[in-house]
Amino acid sequence: MAESLFFTEEHEMLRRSVRDFVNKELVPNADAWEEERLFPDWVFQRLGELGYLGLHFPEEYGGGGGDYFTNVVLMEELAKCGSFGVNTGVAVQIGMATPPILAFGTEEQKQKYLVPAIKGEKIACLGITEPEAGSDVSNVKTFAERIDGGWKVNGNKIFITNGYRADFMTLLARTDKEKKGYKGMSIFLVDTDTPGYVVSRKLDKVGQWSSDTAEIFFEDMVIPEDALLGEEGRGFYNIMWELQGERLIVAVAVIAIAEVTLQQAIDYAKERVQFGKPIIKNQAIAHRVADLATELEAAKSLAYITAWRYDRGEYPVKEISMAKLIGTRVAFQVTDEALQIMGGYGYMMEYPAQKAWRDMRIARIGGGTDEIMREIIATTMGLY
Ligand SMILES: Cc1cc2nc3c(=O)[nH]c(=O)nc-3n(C[C@H](O)[C@H](O)[C@H](O)COP(=O)(O)OP(=O)(O)OC[C@H]3O[C@@H](n4cnc5c(N)ncnc54)[C@H](O)[C@@H]3O)c2cc1C
Repeated sequence: MAESLFFTEEHEMLRRSVRDFVNKELVPNADAWEEERLFPDWVFQRLGELGYLGLHFPEEYGGGGGDYFTNVVLMEELAKCGSFGVNTGVAVQIGMATPPILAFGTEEQKQKYLVPAIKGEKIACLGITEPEAGSDVSNVKTFAERIDGGWKVNGNKIFITNGYRADFMTLLARTDKEKKGYKGMSIFLVDTDTPGYVVSRKLDKVGQWSSDTAEIFFEDMVIPEDALLGEEGRGFYNIMWELQGERLIVAVAVIAIAEVTLQQAIDYAKERVQFGKPIIKNQAIAHRVADLATELEAAKSLAYITAWRYDRGEYPVKEISMAKLIGTRVAFQVTDEALQIMGGYGYMMEYPAQKAWRDMRIARIGGGTDEIMREIIATTMGLY
């Protein structure tokens, strides 16, 4: 094994185990899950049994106590399973819905939600986005009203990954109508079988078909006092803090799938003969491939270096935003160009290039759009 700045021999052992699991248990099913528009719940359970849902969580809660690069390895290898929705579902479980529980939860909340989520026994979703609050999270209107012994919640959430089958939601709701903007919001842990929690529909998407995405309504939903996660009124700040790690994970996962897709295009271009020679022998194509490989390598390096800093306790918001911006843009560009290199065959449903192309598009929107990443970068650069 070549020496790596970021990956130890333990990481490489983990990579081999995850790859083996992906090839044996996920790849053979991936096409069927795409058709069925859902990967089954047993994938969470199996990942939990193997310890993969808790790699980066402390051992006392059933996790592996590993560094951030253990999650990087997991996401890079899962990305090769042939059904990218699996990555998204798992990323929400391990990187979005549960880290706030570790950071801000009481011991009871950790035992009730985090431990079974790490085991794959409970599926988690994260409820931030609303029809009128997408990029502008300050506009969240779902309201949790304090009542005797708990809270009564009304409102709705949209585009919720895992929302169709989750056992619990990490929910961001307004708790103080007087306070505008980012103030006056709180996080709650909500069991999805609570009366008044209504999954209204599973949404059809362009890509990532095997991941379920739902719209959810809260209709006079009463939750107990201890459903509050962390300090009342600090919800926005707490959830945004925790989402930073997730943005990096998105970047490394899409780069991994783009690398696979670029290789498929190279293999195709070596075989495909037009005008009497393999199309890769045209400098226009070979140089384009060289550019794409260079851009991917640059994006990956930024993601890794930023992950390294993040893992050491730094909070490099600007670089995380840069890594997500460039990683998702380059990954989409690579899959688009790979499809171009494969011509009409690339556009056919029987070839994988179209799937990668469809799957990549959302990465420039979900978890913060390109434009919002630029806004964070510009702000942290002090440009305004
Ligand atoms: C498949 C999928 C899964 C998702 N999963 C989840 C989930 O699990 N949980 C969850 O809470 N959310 C989830 N989301 C929501 C996602 O985070 C939002 O879609 C995203 O934040 C953008 O919000 P929006 O779609 O409302 O777009 P809008 O905010 O309406 O933006 C529309 C366009 O305007 C641009 N724009 C907005 N404001 C500005 C500005 N100030 N300057 C320049 N441009 C601007 C945006 O960049 C975008 O191009 C998911 C979305 C999708 C599609």
